[in-house]
Amino acid sequence: MKTVHVIGGGLAGSEAAWQIARAGVSVLLHEMRPLRKTEAHVGEGLAELVCSNSFRSDDVEGNAVGLLHEEMRRAGSLIMRAADRHKVPAGSALAVDRHGFSAAVQTALEAEPLIEIRREEIAGLPPAEWADVVIATGPLTSPALAEAISKLTGEASLAFFDAIAPIIHKDSIDFSKAWFQSRYDKAGPGGDGADYINCPFEKPDYLTFVDALKAAETTPFKDWEKDTPYFEGCLPVEVMATRGPRTLAFGPMKPVGLTDPRTGRRPYAVVQLRQDNALGTLYNMVGFQTKMKHAEQTRVFRTIPGLEKAEFARLGGIHRNTFLNSPRLLDAGCRLKAEPRLRFAGQIAGVEGYVESAALGLIVGRFAAADALGFDATPPPETTAFGALHRHITGGADAKTFQPMNVNFGLFPPIATELRGRERKALLARRALADLNAWLNSTPAMPPKRASAA
Ligand SMILES: Cc1cc2nc3c(=O)[nH]c(=O)nc-3n(C[C@H](O)[C@H](O)[C@H](O)COP(=O)(O)OP(=O)(O)OC[C@H]3O[C@@H](n4cnc5c(N)ncnc54)[C@H](O)[C@@H]3O)c2cc1C
Repeated sequence: MKTVHVIGGGLAGSEAAWQIARAGVSVLLHEMRPLRKTEAHVGEGLAELVCSNSFRSDDVEGNAVGLLHEEMRRAGSLIMRAADRHKVPAGSALAVDRHGFSAAVQTALEAEPLIEIRREEIAGLPPAEWADVVIATGPLTSPALAEAISKLTGEASLAFFDAIAPIIHKDSIDFSKAWFQSRYDKAGPGGDGADYINCPFEKPDYLTFVDALKAAETTPFKDWEKDTPYFEGCLPVEVMATRGPRTLAFGPMKPVGLTDPRTGRRPYAVVQLRQDNALGTLYNMVGFQTKMKHAEQTRVFRTIPGLEKAEFARLGGIHRNTFLNSPRLLDAGCRLKAEPRLRFAGQIAGVEGYVESAALGLIVGRFAAADALGFDATPPPETTAFGALHRHITGGADAKTFQPMNVNFGLFPPIATELRGRERKALLARRALADLNAWLNSTPAMPPKRASAA
């Protein structure tokens, strides 16, 4: 009988271990706490929530994370079972009693005969004799392991902070003001000369916008994040604004090579948006990484001509993080192409959030179990929330600009309908659940065969 080693007993590692064991495969789960702490965890429980106690919206037909909850429930998720049992009142969100939640996950894993939990740090690459490994060590992976992964993958492929520019749903952009054009209409590799969406500013509006950036409230770095280096090339946009009124117009907002079709001339400044996913439904604001508070980002960025009604798939941020350039490094089984015995799950594989991390743990756990049992692991359909996340990190996202991502409906293949808003989301959700059921029924090792142990 093969044993799968799971490194990290957080949201992803706990769920992965559970899925593997429920499929009948033995697991060794290695968790370094309490012997070695991270900068954010305070206890020794498995699946500790390091900050908020919210799993966000539980609205299955109105919010992609609510749909992800439901898919996880249907796939026998331990994380969702513990969350549902320990929920606290939070309106339409699913929030949990963090201690009860973590204790429930730990108790279930301890009671599972096929799981052994070892409290130890894996301080380097896993030993060569471990043939099946899931690395789920999260955004605060211990330095010794992070360094070893960085050496194996190449230094530019493992990031130690994220510098996220806001990402916008294309169908919320006003194209009576914005237009498609690449600088000097250059086609470039894979482009057609009209790859970017451009939002134009005249001088007075530009100066007002720069003032708004400078006045916006920002989120401070936490003490332990302050020493994390970030490069001059990734300066927050509001910091660039303080360096002089024209800094942005000569930097990320430079208008050279662009002609506003409405005026027939070059605007004073331009905000450019670049395609962010293969489906072409999401666009990121080029050079707009920011520490502005979320409400401030929405307020200030909606003053950009063409973005007055922008819907944000994610807002910007700069945090301490550890994540792989997964679209480049991982295969469809979430295995490192350069060393396939190593799979990655959770935040280190480039998803963002408690729920997304646990969901990827579930998917990767199933892949590892199927392999150990000698089945071909079929990836979840792209039309499901599972599939949208999986596809995003294994090829859907652009490797050149890859940053961690929450689940959102912009990651789903479009559906043919005239409906908008909630009605369209409901159609996407219903399609997802129908396709999920077919996937769950067709995956040989799943659903879990044995009765619940906890
Ligand atoms: C400060 C901070 C706040 C966050 N707040 C939120 C929030 O409010 N809401 C949200 O949805 N997301 C939040 N996130 C993002 C993210 O979703 C969570 O960090 C989530 O816990 C990631 O799940 P994970 O399983 O990938 O990692 P984790 O839950 O962090 O689990 C990783 C585990 O691996 C262990 N480990 C690390 N290195 C080793 C090693 N070498 N050997 C053995 N064990 C090891 C760690 O001790 C840890 O238990 C936050 C992240 C950070 C850093």
